[in-house]
This record gives sequence, structure tokens and C-alpha cells, in this order.
Amino acid sequence: MEKERLVIIGCGPAGLTAAIYAARASLSPLVISGQLPGGLLTQTSEVENFPGFEDGVNGYELMDKMDKQAKRFGARVIFDQVSSVNFTDGETQTLKLMSGKEIEAEAVIIAAGATPRWLGLDSEERLKNRGVSACATCDGAFYRNMDVAVAGGGDSAMEEATFLTKFASKVYLIHRRDEFRASPIMVERAKANPKIEIITNAVIDEILGEKEVEGIAVHDVKTQEKREIPCKGFFAALGHIPATALYKDFIETDDKGYIILQNNRSQTSLKGIFAAGDCADPVYRQAIHAAGMGCAAAMDAIKYLEEK
Ligand code: NDP
Repeated sequence: MEKERLVIIGCGPAGLTAAIYAARASLSPLVISGQLPGGLLTQTSEVENFPGFEDGVNGYELMDKMDKQAKRFGARVIFDQVSSVNFTDGETQTLKLMSGKEIEAEAVIIAAGATPRWLGLDSEERLKNRGVSACATCDGAFYRNMDVAVAGGGDSAMEEATFLTKFASKVYLIHRRDEFRASPIMVERAKANPKIEIITNAVIDEILGEKEVEGIAVHDVKTQEKREIPCKGFFAALGHIPATALYKDFIETDDKGYIILQNNRSQTSLKGIFAAGDCADPVYRQAIHAAGMGCAAAMDAIKYLEEK
């Protein structure tokens, strides 16, 4: 059993900011990367709203810089995933990793982020990685000169649809309502793109195709009219679900699974367990806010360890 003072779960903006602060306080934190090192930002293309980058910054590049910054001060980042935990109220915290490693920690910061939300159709599940994807940045280039469909009405859907026009001949943007959650500037950008056709009030009933995606079947919620749209790729851009399944038997979460923080601090319902970023943020879910929460969690964890 390895013994650690502070373990940080996740290495998105929250986890790595926490790591920078904790490492600068000489705690030499152990950061467990999770499935997607760098977190969701590595899957986005250009980040235009992270302060300090007047011309925008590539998401992968931003996370790479944070990773190097944390390591420069002594943070250790390992590529592994948590498989189970045993959390206590202020006593020793135990974590088991996919690699088989077992760790005892005095304090833990959960910055595990969120995972993509899917429509939940059997056909969608069956055709995952055969034309069904939740990451346009990762898979978009496979659809050069083909038609694709994107589902969702938030900023991700607008961004993914616009990004996909770099490759695809046509992008259908399918949204279940006629109002968009996305910011007006993103909607305008998508509307102005001649390769994007926006179809509103449309619910997707099926992803069509046996071995690979051949189209989607939708119906109009107002007229009930059914229609099949031929396409080779389907991208779910439906938001995300907090990655807290492993922890919610130990700490308080809300009805959607977001970790509940105590008294406007980063502490969870257990002493010694702190949380930051999208897994504990049902409201803002922005990289810069996640980074701020990571800073707060590190400062709270440092104080907790000093008092201990
Ligand atoms: P959101 O939660 O904002 O949007 C999710 C969209 O998916 C909604 O339009 C929702 O529809 C739709 N949806 C959810 N479930 C289903 C379903 N089962 N069937 C059909 N449609 C469904 O998530 P985003 O990922 O778009 O954005 C998350 C956060 O990240 C936001 O704060 C956003 O501003 C930010 N962001 C910022 C970017 C940028 O600035 N460059 C880029 C991407 C994201 P409905 O509206 O009907 O609920």
C-alpha cells in the first residue's frame, strides 16, 4: 500500500490547478489522470474564453501547459484510473486503481469532471465508434466529404457542428426544441455557415445502420411527421454527466450526481475529501471556473493537512 499526503483525482483544469497550488506548498501531490488525460478541454479545438489568451488557445495546448506547470513544482501525474474507494470522515482514505495499485491518502481532491451524455438508444450504443461519437475534435476528420448529424442545442453542439464543416460536406444540427441553450454568438455562427442545416423540434428515434451509421430517424414534436436523414456520422453533443458514480456512496451528491460542497467551501460531506470542477459544479461548468475551484480545493486541503 502506497502512502500519500494528497491525492488529486482528475487532471483537467480543476485537478491541475489544485496540483499547482498543492505542489507549490511542497505537498508533492499524486494526480491520477483518469481516462482522458487533460480532461474534456483536450477534445475541444479553440478555447476563446480562457483569460490570458487574446487570440484563443488550443485546448490540448492549454492542458499541456498546465500539466508541465504542475510537474515543475513537484506534482506527480500518473496515467491510471480509480476503480474503487473507501472514504472516511477525517481518517485514512483508501483508493484502488485500475492498475492494481492501492493508495492510502490523508486527503483527496475529487476533480473527476464529467462524461458525455448520450441519447440512450440501443442503436446508438451498438454503433459507437462505428459512426457514433461524442467528440467531433477526435473523430471529425474521418468524415471528409460526407454528411454528418450533430444532436444538441447548447454551445457544444454549435461548436461541434461548426468544427465539422471543415471536413463534412453537410452538417445537420438536430435539436429537440426551437430555442437554443447556446449563446447567441455561437448560434449565429452556426446559422451563417452554409454547410449547416438546423432542424429544430426534432427528436431522434433511431440511429440507422447495421454495421455502421447510415442515417438517423427523427420525428417532429409538433407535427409528429417522421423523416429519415441519410448521414455517415452521428455526433452527440448533449452535455455531460458528473463522473461521481464511484464516490456517491460516501459523499453527498445532488439528484443529478453533482458533489455537494459544504458552506461555500470545497469540502464535501466528509472531512479530508474535497471536490472541484465540473463534478461539483452544476451551474457554470467553465474551464476558468473549474481552475478557480481547483485553487480553492488545494488551499482547503493544505489547511486541513496543516491542522492535522
Ligand atoms: P448543455 O447542457 O448546455 O446543452 C446540452 C444540449 O443537449 C441542450 O440543448 C439539451 O437540450 C440537449 N439534450 C440533452 N439531453 C438530450 C436528449 N436526451 N435528447 C436530445 N437533446 C438533449 O451542454 P454543452 O455541452 O453544450 O455546454 C456545457 C457548458 O459548456 C455550457 O456552460 C457551455 O456554455 C459551455 N461550453 C462553452 C463553449 C465555448 O464557449 N467555446 C463550447 C462548449 C461548451 P435542451 O436545451 O432542450 O435541454
